[in-house]
Amino acid sequence: MPAETPSSTATVDALALIVLPSLDGLSEEQLRGATCIWCGHGLTTDTAVDLGERRHKRLDGHYSTFPRGCRADAHRAAVQALHDHAGLCEQCVDDPGACSEGMALYRLVRQEWR
Ligand SMILES: [Zn+2]
Ligand SMILES: [Zn+2]
Repeated sequence: MPAETPSSTATVDALALIVLPSLDGLSEEQLRGATCIWCGHGLTTDTAVDLGERRHKRLDGHYSTFPRGCRADAHRAAVQALHDHAGLCEQCVDDPGACSEGMALYRLVRQEWR
């Protein structure tokens, strides 16, 4: 979960709301985005979905990974993220259109997975 609360004016990065698998047990290829972070299959620029930079803590500071996923897994994860969000978010229960995170996830789920 992002630490900072998104302000109403900020565009929500819906990709950042997608929960990725724990880094433990992932291959080097998965960590650098050469293969799908979920299923481990090889990716090409045509099939890969860029999941954005992820920052991770370690003892001497931070490091970044740039995970990517195949379209099927990324879409499934986006649907899951929307489902999880909607179940926890009071704003979405009251008025889904007023929740910036909910709308960002909804747009992500509905988009063409290029
Ligand atoms: Zn995959
Ligand atoms: Zn919401």
